[in-house]
Amino acid sequence: MMTTPAHYDYVVIGCGSIGSMTLWQLTELAPGASVLGIERFDRVHTKGSYSGESRLFRVALKEGGIYIPLVQQARGMWLEMNERSGRDIFLPVGAISVGPADFPTMVQTMEVIEEFGLDHEVLDAAELAERFPVFAASSPGAVPDAAIIDPAGGGIRPELSVAYAQQFAIDAGAQLWDNTRVLAVEPGAESTLIRTERGEITAGKVIVANGSWTADLYPDLAGHISVQSIPLTWYLPLDITGFLPENLPIFMRDIVRDNGEIWHCYGAPTIDGYSVKISHGDFVGEGTTPDDLEVLRTGEIPAEVLQVFSERASTFFTGMLDAPVRISLHHDGFTTDHAPVLGHAPGTDGAVTVATGMSGNGMKFAPVYGRIAAELAVTGDSPLRPAAFDYPVTAREPSATIIPAAIH
Ligand SMILES: Cc1cc2nc3c(=O)[nH]c(=O)nc-3n(C[C@H](O)[C@H](O)[C@H](O)COP(=O)(O)OP(=O)(O)OC[C@H]3O[C@@H](n4cnc5c(N)ncnc54)[C@H](O)[C@@H]3O)c2cc1C
Repeated sequence: MMTTPAHYDYVVIGCGSIGSMTLWQLTELAPGASVLGIERFDRVHTKGSYSGESRLFRVALKEGGIYIPLVQQARGMWLEMNERSGRDIFLPVGAISVGPADFPTMVQTMEVIEEFGLDHEVLDAAELAERFPVFAASSPGAVPDAAIIDPAGGGIRPELSVAYAQQFAIDAGAQLWDNTRVLAVEPGAESTLIRTERGEITAGKVIVANGSWTADLYPDLAGHISVQSIPLTWYLPLDITGFLPENLPIFMRDIVRDNGEIWHCYGAPTIDGYSVKISHGDFVGEGTTPDDLEVLRTGEIPAEVLQVFSERASTFFTGMLDAPVRISLHHDGFTTDHAPVLGHAPGTDGAVTVATGMSGNGMKFAPVYGRIAAELAVTGDSPLRPAAFDYPVTAREPSATIIPAAIH
């Protein structure tokens, strides 16, 4: 006997960074509606783009333009999450960019600060050395370092953010199926059929937020989104004082070497109390989904890459032992123009919204991107959504404010 598949008003596919926030925002925008989240792995897991203890949050984004109002709105939502959860999901420790004052990203950041009238502080080399002595390890370039402080910046605890956004939704009546893979999404005249490992269901509106696995469900996006594997590394200073969150903001540093070579790092103050995340932003493998990335399967970062990282860590920071004490491998989907895909899927008449291609920058925006995805599903439109995020990517408006290829 044929059974009718269960029907839900809204189904979110993938409950990671963006999907968990979408789930939460759906319950706020459509109270009383039936909302289901489907997650391929455990409710919170280590395989998504969000794992790795911390993420950087900045308001003074060098990318500027459309991203500033979005990140300002996101900040309010991060603070709301702290308030509601009673946990430090967002760590309001500020952000510091260190580098030669005329370094391109320092100049761009100052331009954005001036354009948007953002709070900031500029430190010269002497002030930097006095306030943040951990950066004094070496300034091998001829130009002494300067710094820009973005006091509205901070750190995010990504695993906690996913867990609590899911929890807010569950508390408001949403269901979450974990360890269930969605196999296909088939929009129809009345509703959309979703084939899962647990069987079939139908939905009024679907939001696809399956991150680096987008090509599994939307192969047409494979040519526009490449999945990159990115290592994270933590190092150990003997004196942790200067690396405590009360003494160090989240940071980015660029060093111009005497030979013109540029060394970049980014990271966060210590969260575990003994190690400091210092990462270099290098990519160590590329594929269509994480499942075809050999480096993610083996978990082995090439020795020569680690060697280079180690040589640099103790140049970036005073008192840092140069061998990593923790290493992990991650991934994210990068679009060709580094703006996310956040819009209705073509030909679905608004029944399917796709939120993907976060291009190494999605965490800071996650609550507001979740809000946009929920608005697109519930009302069919979102006043917050820039046209530069369209899916038909070929029809996107050219934008001068696209995020460059960099994580954080
Ligand atoms: C090393 C690293 C450092 C970063 N640093 C920063 C930073 O400092 N600041 C910042 O803002 N951003 C940063 N980012 C980027 C940010 O973490 C990502 O852009 C963001 O986490 C992507 O979110 P997502 O929801 O697209 O993917 P995910 O969080 O991975 O969520 C996708 C979910 O979909 C699930 N899924 C997949 N396929 C299916 C299926 N078929 N059925 C059901 N579920 C499915 C997955 O299991 C996963 O849980 C960094 C990324 C990396 C990798």
